[in-house]
Amino acid sequence: MLRVLEKENFEKLKDAGEGYIVITDKPNNTTKLHQVGCRYVDIKSFTKKVVENHEENGSYYWFKDKKDAVSETNADECLVCKG
Ligand SMILES: [Zn+2]
Repeated sequence: MLRVLEKENFEKLKDAGEGYIVITDKPNNTTKLHQVGCRYVDIKSFTKKVVENHEENGSYYWFKDKKDAVSETNADECLVCKG
Protein backbone atom coordinates (compact mmCIF):
# COMPACT_ATOMS: atom_id res chain seq x y z
CA MET A 1 0.00 0.00 0.00
CA LEU A 2 1.20 3.44 -0.87
CA ARG A 3 -0.27 6.71 0.32
CA VAL A 4 -0.29 9.09 -2.61
CA LEU A 5 0.73 12.56 -1.51
CA GLU A 6 2.38 14.22 -4.47
CA LYS A 7 1.06 15.23 -7.86
CA GLU A 8 4.08 13.72 -9.63
CA ASN A 9 3.47 10.43 -7.87
CA PHE A 10 -0.20 10.45 -8.83
CA GLU A 11 0.64 11.15 -12.47
CA LYS A 12 3.17 8.33 -12.53
CA LEU A 13 0.60 5.88 -11.25
CA LYS A 14 -1.97 7.04 -13.79
CA ASP A 15 0.56 6.74 -16.61
CA ALA A 16 1.60 3.26 -15.53
CA GLY A 17 -2.07 2.29 -15.41
CA GLU A 18 -1.56 -0.59 -13.01
CA GLY A 19 -3.23 -1.37 -9.74
CA TYR A 20 -6.01 0.17 -7.74
CA ILE A 21 -6.72 3.45 -6.03
CA VAL A 22 -8.71 3.75 -2.83
CA ILE A 23 -10.18 7.18 -2.17
CA THR A 24 -11.51 8.02 1.25
CA ASP A 25 -13.92 10.87 1.80
CA LYS A 26 -14.60 12.00 5.34
CA PRO A 27 -17.58 14.35 4.73
CA ASN A 28 -19.45 11.61 2.86
CA ASN A 29 -18.00 8.81 4.96
CA THR A 30 -17.11 6.77 1.89
CA THR A 31 -14.19 4.59 0.87
CA LYS A 32 -14.16 3.78 -2.83
CA LEU A 33 -12.07 1.35 -4.79
CA HIS A 34 -11.20 2.25 -8.38
CA GLN A 35 -9.05 0.90 -11.14
CA VAL A 36 -6.23 3.39 -11.69
CA GLY A 37 -7.59 4.19 -15.15
CA CYS A 38 -11.08 5.13 -13.91
CA ARG A 39 -12.26 8.58 -14.92
CA TYR A 40 -13.06 9.31 -11.28
CA VAL A 41 -9.40 8.95 -10.44
CA ASP A 42 -8.45 12.34 -11.82
CA ILE A 43 -5.70 14.82 -11.20
CA LYS A 44 -8.07 17.68 -10.47
CA SER A 45 -9.85 15.93 -7.60
CA PHE A 46 -6.56 14.57 -6.28
CA THR A 47 -4.93 17.99 -6.29
CA LYS A 48 -7.83 19.56 -4.47
CA LYS A 49 -8.20 16.89 -1.82
CA VAL A 50 -4.58 16.02 -1.14
CA VAL A 51 -2.40 18.93 -2.22
CA GLU A 52 -4.63 21.93 -1.54
CA ASN A 53 -6.69 20.65 1.38
CA HIS A 54 -3.89 18.56 2.88
CA GLU A 55 -6.07 15.45 3.19
CA GLU A 56 -8.46 17.21 5.51
CA ASN A 57 -11.41 15.55 3.79
CA GLY A 58 -9.78 12.31 2.76
CA SER A 59 -6.85 10.52 1.20
CA TYR A 60 -5.65 8.52 -1.81
CA TYR A 61 -4.01 5.11 -1.50
CA TRP A 62 -2.56 2.87 -4.19
CA PHE A 63 -2.58 -0.91 -4.05
CA LYS A 64 -1.10 -3.41 -6.46
CA ASP A 65 -3.66 -6.08 -5.64
CA LYS A 66 -7.37 -5.65 -5.41
CA LYS A 67 -7.76 -8.16 -2.61
CA ASP A 68 -5.24 -6.29 -0.45
CA ALA A 69 -7.06 -3.03 -1.11
CA VAL A 70 -10.38 -4.53 -0.07
CA SER A 71 -9.10 -6.35 2.99
CA GLU A 72 -7.09 -3.39 4.28
CA THR A 73 -9.58 -0.61 3.67
CA ASN A 74 -12.97 -2.33 3.41
CA ALA A 75 -13.61 -0.18 0.34
CA ASP A 76 -16.72 -0.35 -1.83
CA GLU A 77 -16.24 -0.91 -5.53
CA CYS A 78 -16.81 2.03 -7.82
CA LEU A 79 -19.94 1.47 -9.90
CA VAL A 80 -18.36 2.94 -13.01
CA CYS A 81 -15.10 0.99 -13.28
CA LYS A 82 -16.27 -1.90 -11.06
CA GLY A 83 -13.22 -1.48 -8.85
ZN1 LIG B 1 -14.00 3.98 -10.62
